[in-house]
Amino acid sequence: MMLDTATLRVALALVDLTLLLLFYFITFRRTRSPYSGWWCMALLLFLVGNAAYLMDGTVHQAWAIPAGNVLLVAGAASIWAGGRSLRAPSPRSWHLAAGPAATAVASALDHPATNTWAGGPVYLGFMALLIGMGSRELFLLERDYSRVHRPLAVGAGILAVFYLGRLVVFLTKGPDSAIFTTVFGSGTMTVFSMITLVVASFTMAELSYEQQTQDLRSRATVDGLTGLLNRSAFLDLAENELRRLRRTGTTASVIIADLDHFKKINDQFGHPAGDSALQAFARACTGTVRSTDLIGRYGGEEFILLLPGVTPERAREIAADVSSRLQQSGSRVIPRLPTVSYGIAAVDAGPGSLDAAVALADAALYQAKTLGRDRAELAAGGGS
Ligand code: GH3
Ligand code: MG
Ligand code: MG
Repeated sequence: MMLDTATLRVALALVDLTLLLLFYFITFRRTRSPYSGWWCMALLLFLVGNAAYLMDGTVHQAWAIPAGNVLLVAGAASIWAGGRSLRAPSPRSWHLAAGPAATAVASALDHPATNTWAGGPVYLGFMALLIGMGSRELFLLERDYSRVHRPLAVGAGILAVFYLGRLVVFLTKGPDSAIFTTVFGSGTMTVFSMITLVVASFTMAELSYEQQTQDLRSRATVDGLTGLLNRSAFLDLAENELRRLRRTGTTASVIIADLDHFKKINDQFGHPAGDSALQAFARACTGTVRSTDLIGRYGGEEFILLLPGVTPERAREIAADVSSRLQQSGSRVIPRLPTVSYGIAAVDAGPGSLDAAVALADAALYQAKTLGRDRAELAAGGGS
């Protein structure tokens, strides 16, 4: 049984409308993420654009064909903008409008009242280009950004190549050639679009679910002020790391850092100034240690670091590097950044070693404070 193009277009419109409603109410309203907004926009433009094509062969064809072409190209521009919103600011509005505007001019000048393929090459060219650009944006995302953006990029790439194929055959063989009507004609394209829209909508919903989960996870593990791990996330990750180190017989050091006379900064310059000093210290830590070391905000103005494979003596040098980096960084809010006291302990391979090391490092920190601050002390039995 062969379905005629008009029937297929009505089916596509119904599928598109259903997806639009589901995606809008279930995904967009919940996440309000820019890319899901752009996908809703693309679905809406495809819906109205395809509906316009239903006027083919009627007295309305003269405006319906240019309108359909423009709306579909605008939908492709939305796909590009959506892909781009995942990694960069949205494109400028004239960049988005260029394709639809050129398509409008080409279609209007190409006798749309009598020519169902008015502006065809320009329309096909922009569809291929803009969907291809959307695919590129997705490919440019980090590999571990999500589990679904790569398949989505491949899907968009295939669609772009399909449009490119249509353009090439249109230009070389013409829209009435057998190959164009059977392989690249409106019927095939409508079925292809239907499948693509369903697959893309499900994949986008999955992407948005992944983003939400990641967001919740990072809010549960990251300290909002400094961007470092919060206390419980640090302890969890440190326990994992120590289990791994035990297997290889590697030791580690724990450093507890406490900013000196920090209360005075708050009292003299205000709480926001204190906050900026905490952020400066966090930056000094991340700038000094290796990416494999763990840094957490232990509470208030106290921080904790786990340095695998590092002796307490080496940890003392690292602490000194953090302090000098902090002083060099300077501050626009306070005349002088605070000094820092450190307590350092070795973590041995035994069970419960983290708690024990933290207690020892804490005692060493107390010692550093009593000895005059702005210094690092090693725990007794911690290698000093
Ligand atoms: P010491 O050298 O003995 O450590 O003295 P200190 O003033 O640093 O220590 P104290 O424990 O007396 O004061 C810590 C201060 O840190 C008190 C608290 O208001 C401040 N603080 C804790 N968390 C934050 C924060 O998130 N932002 C700011 N601005 N201040 C904080
Ligand atoms: Mg303190
Ligand atoms: Mg302090």
